[in-house]
Order: sequence, then C-alpha cells, then structure tokens
Amino acid sequence: MIGIAYGQNGPHVDDELRIPVRSWLEDCEKYKPLGWDSYYHFDSILVSDMMEYNMLGVCIPHRKTLLINRQILGDEFLLKLVVYHEMGHCMLGKGHICSRISLMNPTMEMYSMRDYEELWNVLLMDYMNGGVGIPCPELRCLPSF
Ligand SMILES: [Zn+2]
Repeated sequence: MIGIAYGQNGPHVDDELRIPVRSWLEDCEKYKPLGWDSYYHFDSILVSDMMEYNMLGVCIPHRKTLLINRQILGDEFLLKLVVYHEMGHCMLGKGHICSRISLMNPTMEMYSMRDYEELWNVLLMDYMNGGVGIPCPELRCLPSF
C-alpha cells in the first residue's frame, strides 16, 4: 500500500455532506473494504438541486462525481444511508442487491427506515465484507437510488 494517494487530498465534498462522508471514511479506515482508497482519486461529492424527486443520489463514474438530492438533506439517517449506498457504487464498485435488506438495495419501500436503523451494524458488516445477493432486475421500483 506504499504510496497510495500520495499527494492527493480526496474529492471536493459539499459542506452539507461532510458528516456522512467522514463517517464513511472512518468506517472504511477501520474495515478496509476493497477499493475504498479510490476515494482519494475521486473528483466531487455534491448536493444537487436538479435531480428528479425519486432519485435520491447518483454516481457518475466517468465524471468521478457523486450527486445527492438536496431534498433528503433534512433527514440525517436517510442521508447517511444514501451516501453509503452511492459511495458503494462509486468507490467500492458495488452493484445492487435486491434479494434482501442491504445498504445496496435500491428500493426504499421494501423495508422501513427503522429496519435499516436497527440493523445498521449488521448491514455495515455485510457492506464492508462484500456480501452479495441476487442482482436487481433492470426495471426498478420508485423511489430508488
Ligand atoms: Zn444504487
């Protein structure tokens, strides 16, 4: 690991996203999931005003940019969940998991936010350890991320 990210300070992160992004980084420094250090070569993690109401966040790999919908900024837990999900796509190269509750399940309506909060530590371990499930069908239900 010598020399990784040498001279790199990581992406620009909008102020509103600093807390969940810092939390993701701290968890990654602790658990070291494969690929997390690509964070330091990423370009921007931004709040977007231009997103469709049903799109909570999006990773744009070729622009090394991650966008979070401004409409979810008031909900601290949902924001953290969406940031971890999108960072999973952008930094860890993760796809979606549809067969069970997961930080990478794109369908918010299948489980309650309370389920996610109560299971957070279990879901985090699954996420960090590269758990896989059944990939999602192309057509997705709303809202999604
Ligand atoms: Zn997704």
